[in-house]
Amino acid sequence: MQLTFDAEVEAFRAEFVAFLDTHLPHLTETGSAFERSRSSSHIPDWARQWQRLLFDNGWLLPGNPPEFGGRNATLLQQYVHAEELSRRRIYQSFNPQGIGIIAASLLSFGTPEQKQRWAVPILRAEITASLGMSEPGAGSDLASLKTRAVLDGEDFVVTGQKVWTSGAHDADVLLTFVRTYPDAPKHKGISVLLIPTDTPGVVRRPFASVCDKDDVDFNEVFFTDVRVPAGNLVGELNGGWRVATGSLGHERAMLWMDYVNLLHALAVDFEPSGTLQRDHYATLLMDAQALQLLGSAAIARAARGDEDVPAQSVLKLLG
Ligand SMILES: Cc1cc2nc3c(=O)[nH]c(=O)nc-3n(C[C@H](O)[C@H](O)[C@H](O)COP(=O)(O)OP(=O)(O)OC[C@H]3O[C@@H](n4cnc5c(N)ncnc54)[C@H](O)[C@@H]3O)c2cc1C
Repeated sequence: MQLTFDAEVEAFRAEFVAFLDTHLPHLTETGSAFERSRSSSHIPDWARQWQRLLFDNGWLLPGNPPEFGGRNATLLQQYVHAEELSRRRIYQSFNPQGIGIIAASLLSFGTPEQKQRWAVPILRAEITASLGMSEPGAGSDLASLKTRAVLDGEDFVVTGQKVWTSGAHDADVLLTFVRTYPDAPKHKGISVLLIPTDTPGVVRRPFASVCDKDDVDFNEVFFTDVRVPAGNLVGELNGGWRVATGSLGHERAMLWMDYVNLLHALAVDFEPSGTLQRDHYATLLMDAQALQLLGSAAIARAARGDEDVPAQSVLKLLG
């Protein structure tokens, strides 16, 4: 099967490819590798410049309007943009949750002031952001979260604990889900606050992944009587569940494509020997192809305006 796009989409791709050919960061003259990001909220200097360049040219998130780093691109144009980046194994941002979830949520639910004060600096790589949803007793069942926020004059006072907060130790701000109405049914008593990480009472404790002791991205984050201006409330008071479901929807959209490219990269690097390895190799190629075809079909349906949320979950699971 040959997957093709119409001429308008291919013209969009060609323009982006020309931009990448001119501006893609290259290895230094000594041939040394780029400084790597040490966490999902740490952006090395070269990557800050790269993200800023993409923002200024409308190539960061092309579906956004120009003032937010895009060019009002269609879904299929966004798809080929993601494809070209993924094919080159480069990200547009090394703070993926910052631009993909937190800034996106602010653009959907934030006030005009919040968009300028927080979303634009995140998109321009001037600050980084992490996502404070999960707690020791609230993972899959996020609505069980217990971190409390009580309004006291002009501030919320926040007390509680988050866990698995990727990159929090390097982040400037946390999009934090808190309970503001304990007596309401659990989905209806949650609100969302932007909490700067240098606020007194915030303690971040990074810890290593069980898979790799050098991979220190996760954090426990403790809040003790943390005063947060009421103006940092995102969306409506007690309306946080809508923000939660909206936020993760942003994450799911095209994750599958990275998995396809990762599988293809593995296949290129993999030289099977023996029956068992050749069998693994064939499985790898078939899985990559299946994911590519399922993902392409889902994109085509979405471009026609069909909302197919279960298909997104299947793609994430298979990926
Ligand atoms: C790489 C990575 C990065 C992450 N980054 C962040 C982050 O930045 N911010 C953040 O807030 N969180 C983050 N998380 C946390 C993630 O969102 C949680 O791990 C997830 O919500 C699951 O929660 P849990 O780990 O507590 O597992 P649990 O909810 O305890 O689930 C454990 C197991 O039980 C199963 N299970 C749970 N409930 C049911 C049920 N009702 N019926 C049947 N089976 C069930 C689950 O499928 C799972 O297999 C990250 C996780 C990972 C792996």
